[in-house]
Amino acid sequence: MQVKFDIQKLVRENLKSLRPYSSARDEYVSDGSQMTFLDANENPYENGANRYPDPQQRKLKEVLGNLKGVRTSNMLLGNGSDEVLDLIFRAFCEPHEDNIVTLPPTYGMYKVLAGINAIENRELVLTKDFQLDVEAIMNTVDFNTKLLFICSPNNPTGNSFASKDILILLQEFTGLVVIDEAYVDFSDGQSWVSRLSDFPNLIIVQTLSKAFGMAGIRLGICMASEEIIAIMNTIKPPYNVNELTQQHALRGLANISLIKSAVKEIREQKSLIEQVLPKIPFVEHIFPSDTNFLLVRVDDADLRYEQLLKMGVVVRNRSNQPLCENTLRLTIGTPEENIKLVTALKALA
Ligand SMILES: *Cc1c(COP(=O)(O)O)cnc(C)c1O
Repeated sequence: MQVKFDIQKLVRENLKSLRPYSSARDEYVSDGSQMTFLDANENPYENGANRYPDPQQRKLKEVLGNLKGVRTSNMLLGNGSDEVLDLIFRAFCEPHEDNIVTLPPTYGMYKVLAGINAIENRELVLTKDFQLDVEAIMNTVDFNTKLLFICSPNNPTGNSFASKDILILLQEFTGLVVIDEAYVDFSDGQSWVSRLSDFPNLIIVQTLSKAFGMAGIRLGICMASEEIIAIMNTIKPPYNVNELTQQHALRGLANISLIKSAVKEIREQKSLIEQVLPKIPFVEHIFPSDTNFLLVRVDDADLRYEQLLKMGVVVRNRSNQPLCENTLRLTIGTPEENIKLVTALKALA
């Protein structure tokens, strides 16, 4: 465990003296009593969205906090996890000076965001069995390495990383470890959320886009120490999570059993597809998956991708990623959609 971790050493210099924008809804927080709101230049006529949304999304954070066992002060919400990831860059990475470490094959947004924010991206390929090369990672980081992105379960490989390796990195890396848990709800593995208080350099990113079935509303969740959340709060756009998103999320989360049964069905469907795929002659390998997709190695990914497309089935060709030659990523769909996929694959065989 690190003896003294000082988050202020990682914060961008210009933010230390920044005074965040204070919105009308920041300055007067409703206590529920009937007030006449003439403070935000809103149109007064009710239509469901004429008022600005709660900039701190209090109700939604309370529900999510209960669900995940996290205090609302340890949580920041964003317009998808893509916004959350961007805020992490803008809070901690000095353009043209700092660097990050990413571990391909992995989620493409980390690299794109590094480019947008003018941050060097040090890429270190996973081991052949898609695990973390802890020693190589520690040899790659330096004083200016602010962020290490660990996507677990990983997209597009589908596997989770060994906890003992993540643990070592949390203990030894002196920058921030960002664990992207977009797929954690499909996994039997534990979320790192329960370890938040153990690691002041841990940031966990989750999303409502996958297991929760709400990709369209764009809601990402960032969980970290109060200090980290406070810093990110100073730079987030005041109303970054809109009213319709907050309302839709609250409605969806009120029926958590529906979400859980969908996840269960997706997992069952995945097992069924896993049993069928080995019978397809051109499928050479099925990688183990803790997610709602399967990465498969085929004889010729470009060819099979095009053939599936002609049959009306769109999958993702991941062949251009390191260690992923001739791989396709198959998202698990509804039973009907999965039958279409399997039928198409069998027709090609
Ligand atoms: C799908 C996905 C996300 C989700 O991003 P949103 O902006 O929340 O939709 C985040 N990380 C990974 C690794 C993903 O695969």
